[in-house]
Amino acid sequence: LAARGVQGLSPYQPGKPIEEVAREIGLDPANIIKLASNENPLGPSEQALAAIREAFPEVTRYPDGNGFHLKQKLAERLGVGSDCLTLGNGSNDVLEIVARAFAEPGTEVVYSEHAFAIYPIVTQAIGATGVQVPAVDWGHDLYAMADAVTERTRVVFVANPNNPTGTVVEKEGVYRFLKRIPENVIVVLDEAYCEYLQGPEYADGVQWLSEFPNLIVSRTFSKAWGLSGLRVGYGISSPEIADVINRVRQPFNTGVLAQAAATAVLDDHAYLERAIEVNRAGLEQLRDGFGRLGLDVVPSVANFVAVDTGRDANEVHNALMREGVIVRPIGAYGMPRHLRVSVGLESENRRCLDAMEKVLS
Ligand code: PMP
Repeated sequence: LAARGVQGLSPYQPGKPIEEVAREIGLDPANIIKLASNENPLGPSEQALAAIREAFPEVTRYPDGNGFHLKQKLAERLGVGSDCLTLGNGSNDVLEIVARAFAEPGTEVVYSEHAFAIYPIVTQAIGATGVQVPAVDWGHDLYAMADAVTERTRVVFVANPNNPTGTVVEKEGVYRFLKRIPENVIVVLDEAYCEYLQGPEYADGVQWLSEFPNLIVSRTFSKAWGLSGLRVGYGISSPEIADVINRVRQPFNTGVLAQAAATAVLDDHAYLERAIEVNRAGLEQLRDGFGRLGLDVVPSVANFVAVDTGRDANEVHNALMREGVIVRPIGAYGMPRHLRVSVGLESENRRCLDAMEKVLS
């Protein structure tokens, strides 16, 4: 019964919730830590929580289908017009909308090997053909990706930084790549982790929107802003592109509470700064700690690291789980020996490193 593109698909495998793992291994959920879904370990912003409480009576009504207040706030922050923005139920929603709005059976969508799993899923689901370009040093090879564009290509997805590797392509490289892509091909710069990038060498796709009318930048409130569970992401593009993707978007794809919290958290500068600092220190802690255990880590600028366990990572994953530490095997991304470990609080990172030492010895 399934459409042709859907027949060959496997569902995206999210990390298991703590309660489910606790039941499986017979541990108290309070003794389990989850470093598996690249979430913010700080807990929610107090300002976001206050906004949710305040907005709660509104839940009997549909949300503002155009997300007026959130878009206005984002537009101010980004220095673009509100008509350049498209809200999504998480940025996954934006990525899916883009695929539906621009690709179709008989056309091609280009993405990298070891890149974010949603790209092949949204491509195949609509019956378009995915073109996976080999990676270099676990990261995107933008030269090869530009070479892979044909007259059938409609969309190119670039995760910068990439999940699950944490690799990034620096500004110059991204700019040269954009210059090489024909104007009738949509380029999605997926910047889900951009808030963690501190430094002039990193690209901020928004600066190029006026030069490249085929560019869409996607971002999210799920990572540094700490609102994964509310599901809010957004696309930034020319007004013409935003008009096309807004035609495909479901009218109420971001909820009342999600819009309120996302709008409020944008004012919580202290929260963002703390998130960035905790992540910077945690990345260092994990990288050094795994290094001391003799394990290679892919150099990461995001809020997770891919660590080479030197063996079948599923076994290490299961052993860590029995120690109450949930991380993510990434065999489905073509990395069967690696585990992806999200940055947690200092004590959580330490517990993960200790558990790794124990299970590998
Ligand atoms: N892009 C990348 C590269 C990601 O890693 C993720 C989260 N796993 C997303 C997009 C989607 O996140 P969300 O739908 O929560 O915004």
